[in-house]
Amino acid sequence: MKLTPHFTLAELTHSQTAARLGIDNTPAPEMVDALRKTAELLERVRALLGKPILVSSGYRSPLVNRAVGGAASSAHMLGCAADFSCPGFGSPLEICRAIASSDISFDQLIHEYRAWAHIAWAPLPRRQVLTIDKAGTRAGLE
Ligand SMILES: [Zn+2]
Repeated sequence: MKLTPHFTLAELTHSQTAARLGIDNTPAPEMVDALRKTAELLERVRALLGKPILVSSGYRSPLVNRAVGGAASSAHMLGCAADFSCPGFGSPLEICRAIASSDISFDQLIHEYRAWAHIAWAPLPRRQVLTIDKAGTRAGLE
């Protein structure tokens, strides 16, 4: 099912970990509206970056979230977040910097482990910009 011109429901629910462990990662029907908004957010990011985006993790069922070591309150479980890269544009840090300095609305933008960008929306977006790595979580991009 296409959620937006460039993003499908399958893409936003695929999980390598779920496939490997045989965990069902099918979202509840009411989750699809949230995933559509996530896809709309990714469309804005794609337009900003001007290159295709590779989503590595969107929706996570509670079991999948636990299996990947996600935060207990992860926005991925609500269908409101996506982890992605955009090799045609640049590194995850360059991607995060471009989004942070754009007028795209988001709740959290996180540069995670120097390996991918995490973006999430919320009804009342906080526009938090964070870095997470082995040393912990801190404000700003580095
Ligand atoms: Zn994430």
